[in-house]
Amino acid sequence: MLFNSERSVLEHVRYTDAQDGRVFDFYVKRDDLIDPLVSGNKWRKLKYNIEQARHKSSEGILSFGGAHSNHLVATAKACHVAGLKSVGFVRGEELSYNSNSTLMDCAQLGMELVFISREEYRNKEDWEYMNQVRHGFPSFHIVPEGGSNFYGIIGCQEILKETPNDFDHVFVSAGTGTTAAGVILSAGPHTKVHVVSALKGDFMEAQVSKMLNSVVFDEELVEELKGKTVFHDNAHFGGYAKTTPELLRFIKTILAQTQLPIDSVYTGKALYELLRTWKKGELVEHPKVLFIHTGGLQGMRS
Ligand SMILES: *Cc1c(COP(=O)(O)O)cnc(C)c1O
Repeated sequence: MLFNSERSVLEHVRYTDAQDGRVFDFYVKRDDLIDPLVSGNKWRKLKYNIEQARHKSSEGILSFGGAHSNHLVATAKACHVAGLKSVGFVRGEELSYNSNSTLMDCAQLGMELVFISREEYRNKEDWEYMNQVRHGFPSFHIVPEGGSNFYGIIGCQEILKETPNDFDHVFVSAGTGTTAAGVILSAGPHTKVHVVSALKGDFMEAQVSKMLNSVVFDEELVEELKGKTVFHDNAHFGGYAKTTPELLRFIKTILAQTQLPIDSVYTGKALYELLRTWKKGELVEHPKVLFIHTGGLQGMRS
């Protein structure tokens, strides 16, 4: 059933370092098991947006994404199951419904796709452009790219609330930082939240701060929250969706050793960074660590 996170179990995982045989125990919150298409944090971010669409008696949800967007497929499926229509504005006017498996899944789930130029896509947050979009789809609830809005943050606060929430360290992958914002807001008082950016650049801290501010309206509290947050900006392996043979080897090793499937865009990089941080001795002694599996496995097919 949609919007039931029962399948997201808290799993214990034991990793053994191949070089020195040292053992590392940690927990994984398996949001990837929620649904094969509406997986992980995409589901969390859509939950209250769907509720809002229903509340406003919207015809459906309109959102934005790139050609391989996990968020668009998740939106298509969530709307399909909820009995709502869905519209996806896709970056790239040269694309079509048949361009790749992600877009084919979207189409099969009844999503209407609108292919727009990169230039138009860049303007998608402009007030004027949004007004135009709203005018074309007046009865749709509009969700920004990546599900990055207030309702998205609220949904992501539920991840830790389904656990004992007493971890020393929590590691989470970040794209827009929406999930990270929800996790930071809900983390226990002694928890350090590690935000591992999947993108190149050092903008994640500012981006997450902006989101925290938009929810709590209190700069002092935001500074306090940031005091228990660590931003990891150097685990992107060359940039968004870039991989290296080392990363791909790591993903295979983890699957073989622990049966945990991870993807190469988000969770693989975040888990690599978690284990690297542990090996460098940067975690507290005998730490209780949680890795949030944000999903993303549907994207591994492309
Ligand atoms: C989209 C995605 C993220 C990034 O989430 P944000 O809330 O945008 O930071 C992380 N992991 C996976 C698997 C994703 O699909």
